[in-house]
Amino acid sequence: MDSDEFRRRGKEMVDYIADYITNISARRVTPEVEPGYLRPMLPKNAPDEPEPWDDIMKDVETAIMPGITHWQHPRFHAYFPAGNSYPSILGEMLSAGLGIVGFSWAASPACTELETVMLDWLGRMMALPKVFLPFDINRDYKDSDDDETNSDSESYELSDVDKDDTVDGTVEDGLMMNGKKSRHKASECVLVAMLCARAKKVASQRLIDPHIEDGQLLSKLVAYTSKLAHSCVEKAGLIAVIKVRQLYVDDHYSLRGKTLEESIKADKEKGLIPFFVSGTLGTTSCCSYDNLEEIGEICRREQLWFHVDGAYAGSAFICEEFRYLMKGIHYADSYNTNPNKWLLINFDCSCFWVRDKFALVNAMSVDPLYLQHKHAQKAVDYRHWGVALSRRFRALKLWFTIRNYGVTGLRHYVREHCRLAKVFEGLLRKDHRFEIVGDVTLGLVCFRLIGSNKLSQKLLLSLNDSGKIHMVPSMVNDIYIIRFAVCSKDATDDDMRVAFDIIQSHANDVIQEYKA
Ligand code: PLP
Repeated sequence: MDSDEFRRRGKEMVDYIADYITNISARRVTPEVEPGYLRPMLPKNAPDEPEPWDDIMKDVETAIMPGITHWQHPRFHAYFPAGNSYPSILGEMLSAGLGIVGFSWAASPACTELETVMLDWLGRMMALPKVFLPFDINRDYKDSDDDETNSDSESYELSDVDKDDTVDGTVEDGLMMNGKKSRHKASECVLVAMLCARAKKVASQRLIDPHIEDGQLLSKLVAYTSKLAHSCVEKAGLIAVIKVRQLYVDDHYSLRGKTLEESIKADKEKGLIPFFVSGTLGTTSCCSYDNLEEIGEICRREQLWFHVDGAYAGSAFICEEFRYLMKGIHYADSYNTNPNKWLLINFDCSCFWVRDKFALVNAMSVDPLYLQHKHAQKAVDYRHWGVALSRRFRALKLWFTIRNYGVTGLRHYVREHCRLAKVFEGLLRKDHRFEIVGDVTLGLVCFRLIGSNKLSQKLLLSLNDSGKIHMVPSMVNDIYIIRFAVCSKDATDDDMRVAFDIIQSHANDVIQEYKA
C-alpha cells in the first residue's frame, strides 16, 4: 500500500467505523458463534502473494464481525463501560501513524512530556491529594481556587497527612516538577504497587536482620485486600509470590479497619510480616467502597503500603458531588484509575500515581547502556516506572479527548450515566419481584429476582442467550447478583426502558417456568 492508496483506504476506514458506530443497534449484541468458528473460514497458511484491500475488508464483514461482541451497543450492560469516542479514536490513529516507541524521554520527548502533563490535568480534574500533583502546590491551589468552573477548593484542602509530607521531604525539588505518575493496565498498576511495597519492606527488614535469606523473607510477607477486590490483586500476589488475604466486607460491601486490624494482628502473632493493602473505590462486583480512612490510619500506623484501585469509579471524581466517595484517599501511597473505562478514552489507558517516586524507581529500574541518554538526570524515563519497556503514545488520545469534550463535557457524560442508573433503578423498584443489592452510587445497578440464587441465574442465562442484551453476574456475600452497567456513550432514558422491558419479559417466563 503506498501513500496514495493509504489516503483512500484510510478515508474509507473512517467511514466504515462511523457507519459501524451509527448503525450498531441493528446488530445482535453478542455473537452466536462457537469456539473455533474462525479457523475453518481462513486459509491454513498466510498468503504468499499480496491480496487486494477490498478482499480483506470483505472478510472483515464475513469472518470477523460475526465473532464480535459489540461493546458500544446500547444493550451492552456487562462489566464496566469500554470507553470510546471519536477524538480518542483519532488519537490512536495519530499514535499509530507516528509509530514511535516512547520508553525513555529521549525516545520521543513529546510522548513522555505530554503524558506527564495529562496525568497532572487528570489529577487536578479528579481532585487527587497534592502528593500526587506537581511540586508547585501553591500555584496549583491558587489555580483551582481562582477557577470558577472548577469547584475543587474543598477537596484540595491540606489534610494532616499531606502537611506532614510537605515537611518530611518526600517532595523533592526538580523531580517533583515531573510529577509522580505512570500508566499501565489497572492490573499492572496493582502489581507494580505490590512490587514497590515488597522492595521497600524487604529493604527495611534487611536493616533489622541483615542475614535473612530472600526466600525466607518473602515467605513471611502478607498483603491484604477485600473479597470483593478485583481478581488482579490475587494475580499480583501469584506473580510476586506473596500471600494475599481476601478479607470479609461489611453489610455495605466495604472493607473495614477492624477486619483488617484483626487479620494483621493474627498474622503478626504467627511471625508473618504485613506490608501491603489494596483497597478499592468502586468494586467490580457491585461498585462498593472500602473505608479508606479506617484502612489508611492502620496502614500509617503499621507502616504498610496502601494502594487504592479506582479503576472505574475514579472517573466520577471529576464531578464534585461524587468526591465524598473518595474520603480518606490522602492516605494512599499509590492510586490508579482507568480513563479507558469511564472517561471516553479507548483501551488501553490506565493511570497510576505514586507518593514515593523513589520507591517505584528503585523497585523497577534496570539500566543497560543502549537505553541511557544524556538527559537522564533531568528527564523522566517511564521505562523505570513499570514492567514493560516499550510504551505507546497513549497521552495523545487523552489530550484530544479532554480538549475536544472539555472538562464540562466529560462531567456531563459521567453525570448522565449516573442519572440513567437511577432511572433504571426506579424501574426495577416498581416491580416487586426484583430487589436492588447495594447502593446505586454511580452507573452500576446490581439486582436480582427475590428468591433463590438459581432463579436469578436462570434469568441472566435466558437474557444473555437471547442476544438482545448482555450483562454479567457477580457474587456478593454469597448472594448472586446481576450487574447492569450503563455503558453506551450516548445512552438515553429510552434505552433504560427498553432494557427493563426485555428483563421484565424474560423474568415473566423464568418465574412461570420455575413455578411449573
Ligand atoms: N480493578 C477494578 C476495580 C476493575 O473493575 C478492573 C476491571 O474491570 C480492574 C482492576 C482490571 O483492569 P485492567 O483490565 O485495566 O487490568
